[in-house]
Amino acid sequence: MPDEPLDLDIPDRMGGLPKTTMHFDGGAEAGMKRLRHYFWGTRALSEYKKTRNGMMGWDYSSKFSPWLAWGCLSARTIYHAVLDYEDDVESNESTYWLIFELLWRDYFRFIAMQHGDRIWHETGLKDAPRNPVTHHPLQWKDWCTGNTKSAYVNANMHELRLTGFMSNRGRQNVASYAIHDMGLDWRECAAWFERWLIDFDPCSNTGNWLYVAGIGNDPRPQRKFDVDWQAERYDPDGVFQRHWNRLGEKFPCDPDAVS
Ligand SMILES: Cc1cc2nc3c(=O)[nH]c(=O)nc-3n(C[C@H](O)[C@H](O)[C@H](O)COP(=O)(O)OP(=O)(O)OC[C@H]3O[C@@H](n4cnc5c(N)ncnc54)[C@H](O)[C@@H]3O)c2cc1C
Repeated sequence: MPDEPLDLDIPDRMGGLPKTTMHFDGGAEAGMKRLRHYFWGTRALSEYKKTRNGMMGWDYSSKFSPWLAWGCLSARTIYHAVLDYEDDVESNESTYWLIFELLWRDYFRFIAMQHGDRIWHETGLKDAPRNPVTHHPLQWKDWCTGNTKSAYVNANMHELRLTGFMSNRGRQNVASYAIHDMGLDWRECAAWFERWLIDFDPCSNTGNWLYVAGIGNDPRPQRKFDVDWQAERYDPDGVFQRHWNRLGEKFPCDPDAVS
């Protein structure tokens, strides 16, 4: 399959990225506009359960997280909007699933309230780490700058740095790869996410890192993802990987900026 041409006719505020790149306008009005678009505008909510593991574009998932993180949109507002949508349009597995995902956000808040500072401990909520932590500084830089052996991981890391966003599928994979394949210290990785994520939230970020590291409340000891298998399944034509790896080459991350 030939590489798609990059559209490099770009508005200034996107700093040289293609016009189709996601960008998030701040404020409650922009948050509500996004909600109306995702619910009544496109009715993408009706397909959410099927599309939520996507990686490219605006409407595979709600993209509410930046507005939630900055307090521009509340979980209650979304919840009541889902109920209105269920009355107006339809109620199905997808409408239920968006509420279910919001429960994860609540869950990690309650975990943080229950355990306090403990959530930032090297061994999380356990007595010992689940995986050997080597945290080699050069490997650490490779992960941050998108220069690992996995093109799939690299593409996600470029997307994070260049847009401030990464899909949930991407986050799970790069986290698993960092912890279980590279032996990196999850706390350093979580801090790199904190530095770049436009939707950074201390409870959701830390809670998810603990979960993938197997040192949260999850009874399953390992959440190791086979990133090659995941790339085959979620980016079978390699469109996502080519897109972000080409942009990563064009706008590389200076390894000296990683600290
Ligand atoms: C390692 C790692 C770090 C993460 N860090 C953050 C973070 O800093 N801030 C953040 O908001 N989310 C974080 N998440 C959770 C999740 O990836 C994002 O909430 C989601 O990708 C945001 O996109 P969306 O709004 O389109 O999600 P949708 O799929 O549309 O979900 C709707 C909402 O449900 C909530 N939600 C969905 N999945 C999760 C989850 N696993 N944990 C908690 N809440 C969830 C979010 O509020 C999200 O906006 C992290 C996940 C992982 C694996």
